[in-house]
Amino acid sequence: MSKDSHQIETKVIHAGEPRPGIEGAVSLPIFQSSTFEYSGGESYHDLRYIRLNNTPNHEALAAKLAALENARSALVTSSGMAAITSTLLTVLSSGDHLLIQKGLYGGTHDFITQDLPKLGITHSLLDMENPSSWESCLTATTRAIYVETITNPLIEVADLPAVVEFAARHDLVSIIDNTFASPVNFRPLDWGFDYSLHSATKYLNGHTDIVAGAVLGSAQRVRAVTHKVNHLGGSLDPHACFLLHRGLKTLVLRVRHQNQSAMEIARFLEEHSAVAKVNYAGLTSSPSYQSAQRLLDGYGGMLSFELAGGVAAAVRFMERVQIPVVAPSLGGVETLVTRPATTSHLGMPPAERLALGITDGLVRVSVGIEATPDLIADFRQALD
Ligand code: PLP
Repeated sequence: MSKDSHQIETKVIHAGEPRPGIEGAVSLPIFQSSTFEYSGGESYHDLRYIRLNNTPNHEALAAKLAALENARSALVTSSGMAAITSTLLTVLSSGDHLLIQKGLYGGTHDFITQDLPKLGITHSLLDMENPSSWESCLTATTRAIYVETITNPLIEVADLPAVVEFAARHDLVSIIDNTFASPVNFRPLDWGFDYSLHSATKYLNGHTDIVAGAVLGSAQRVRAVTHKVNHLGGSLDPHACFLLHRGLKTLVLRVRHQNQSAMEIARFLEEHSAVAKVNYAGLTSSPSYQSAQRLLDGYGGMLSFELAGGVAAAVRFMERVQIPVVAPSLGGVETLVTRPATTSHLGMPPAERLALGITDGLVRVSVGIEATPDLIADFRQALD
């Protein structure tokens, strides 16, 4: 049986591991060496150097990541933003136009709307609920389309196969940020996307102790981004590679628990009289339910909700919960709560935020791996 045909639980442990182990080590050691002895090669690519992303730690990690999403190739980067910016700068040149989903992660949104125009790269916002309107956003220089599997913080899942089909019909490069779903819940390349990007800071690492990113795709596409990253310098340090490699091994266990726990918490919140609205794609009340059910293997560990008492109640709730940590970021083993208006979307003008449906009182929860009954009891006492 080929290694590719193994299930994700097996791949996450064994894919990309050097066997036999180096000096018999079962766990891949950290090669904390910036450069490596010249081995006689004639090409630039024969040089081994941390910035060139080709140390043993980079290579093992990239092979494991590629296996998880059935990609031909993968690259790890120094952050999720390094993965996103380097991919966009690889695909787009001055004069090009990009189509983007409304409500992207704040850092991505700002890079596209504030930095790319200075390089002569323009964009249009797509109404994801209305695919028939996308055609009118095309220009003669539209080159790519960029979306997220599950949006932050409203937990929406668009018609992703329609995105792939639209991209193929108009010869666009299709790029998706798969951070919120993780490879456990969605594998974009299987659905025809050209690039799958991750903030590996979140679920892939899972332990809230590093910042990292990943780019997955065909060998040719990943090689092109690697070339850009090698010049921009957004490479991951070997020690952080080691931590990410270690964190990845429990990805499936963590995410499956988080899927189930978030579902139970979402149902509990929906029933509570102090809660006005819950955003979770696994709830039948969610406008994204049909799409999520068709595409995802699990609905993920992220949810958000609004309290009937608005901002004041949201602030009180966050003061009163005891188990979750009040902090930005997501995807770790500990439950985190945050108000996007004061963290991930702080940089966005309030009117723009509201137009997207992100109220000041919205509370976002990244469900960790604590016991679900403990979390529900804690949420209940804070809400009551
Ligand atoms: N993509 C998503 C969906 C995110 O939530 C984040 C960060 O919160 C990023 C990308 C950026 O990742 P990083 O902070 O690792 O650069």
